[in-house]
Amino acid sequence: MNLLTDAWIPIQHQSNYQKISLQQLLCGEQTGELCLPRDDMELACVQLLCAITQALFIPKDKKALVQLVREPITSETYAEASREKMAWFDLNHPETPFMQIRGVKSTQPTPMDKLLAGVADGTNKAFVNPQGLADALCGGCVAIALFNAANNCPSMGGGFKGSLRGSTPITVLIKGRTLRETIWLNVLTEDTAEYVMPWYPETKDQLPNYLDRIKADAKIPASRIGLNRGLLWQPAHFELLPSQSSANCSCCGCYEPVYNGFNKAKFSYTVEGVWPHPLSSRTFAIKKSEREEKFPSFTTTAPTWTHMSRLVVDQQNDKEGQQTAPVIQQARTFLATDKIQLIVGGYRNNQATVLERRHELFSLAQGWAEHGDVIQQIITGGLAYKTALRKALYLFAVGIKDKVNGSGVNLCDPVEAVYYQQTENLMHNRLAAIQFKASQDELQSLNKQLKAIVIDLFNKATESYRQEPKMLKALALARRSLHKSFKELEPQGETP
Ligand SMILES: [Zn+2]
Repeated sequence: MNLLTDAWIPIQHQSNYQKISLQQLLCGEQTGELCLPRDDMELACVQLLCAITQALFIPKDKKALVQLVREPITSETYAEASREKMAWFDLNHPETPFMQIRGVKSTQPTPMDKLLAGVADGTNKAFVNPQGLADALCGGCVAIALFNAANNCPSMGGGFKGSLRGSTPITVLIKGRTLRETIWLNVLTEDTAEYVMPWYPETKDQLPNYLDRIKADAKIPASRIGLNRGLLWQPAHFELLPSQSSANCSCCGCYEPVYNGFNKAKFSYTVEGVWPHPLSSRTFAIKKSEREEKFPSFTTTAPTWTHMSRLVVDQQNDKEGQQTAPVIQQARTFLATDKIQLIVGGYRNNQATVLERRHELFSLAQGWAEHGDVIQQIITGGLAYKTALRKALYLFAVGIKDKVNGSGVNLCDPVEAVYYQQTENLMHNRLAAIQFKASQDELQSLNKQLKAIVIDLFNKATESYRQEPKMLKALALARRSLHKSFKELEPQGETP
């Protein structure tokens, strides 16, 4: 099973489901939407397709990339690019199997479900995943699962290394009109690669670490890791057990040779610094004159739009800042005058346990690239009205010491959850349709809508306590706080 030549990409086109090869996809011979039963596997599949394509081709500059987005390549071009990389992408290669190490010693094999995040250990697994999902996986699904575990998931636990981006990074991809376009839009050009990793020229011929292995306990500066090596980084030592028979794959359902388990072993090394992954934004803070970088991840239940400014807006001062994903930086140079669609996804975890999966689509209106400040204001507004609501409800609960008795009823969390539900579409639509030329009017109208939602939620939440004489003072206090917050949120010089 070789990812460069076999048909392993599950595609739905009109009502036809079939598996196609990467060559058929990039040469425009087949088209369709990716089709897997799990949204995280679909996201990982797009990432894997982008990583393989990046390993095969690196367009020189923007012009070459635009050409690749526009027109399929020829089968000769594909064959030539893949010839030397066949050994990188062979799942059963005798020496260098894809994302595995030969000769992994473990006392007993690990069942396949461990390779799928959240299946074996999620607290809510019965609700999230159909039963029996990972008993046996076909070659395509197992390749996606290996890649997903290496890039997007918490590590296998104590002693196992996690991905280059930390345990559960947020991934951002640009969505094209077709899957083929999507892949190219997330491939870096040589120009961008040199810009985001100045060490690109001297590391561009590096092999993946499952071909050119890391020495045990090595200390590896992130700035020694080349583009392909980083994209295909395997942080752990895994080895699939040979496929014994054919069966229905528990993920895609196809009848194919399947894998039932794998061996895993701890392996220790240290990567120093942060590797600038093409599909991740980074935030940084200067602490004791040292720059500390991090990849954003979903740490709370707050919806994905609350992260949007970190994902699409660059900013920095002398203490902290944020930098968008290299693919977004690159897109600004040639998609600036268009709308852009983003695929945003990742897991929310508590250590090794996956609590939630996200895979969402966002549109940003035409002008997104130059109006980061307005995008930032939209997000800040959405968060500020939420904070005003929370603050008022908090005062309702606890009052003010020695002056006003609190009600003792804390409504902050449940009402915040409803606020997020009720504003979700509003925020999505505003980001997708804002007229940046009239941004001040648009922001004001958004704030009006948010304010109306907050007033409504506050009234509904406190309605049943209005008849309680003991709580009236706390209610009045909360209401005053709400109006004070509203006033602060209104543009200065305007009468409320
Ligand atoms: Zn499968």
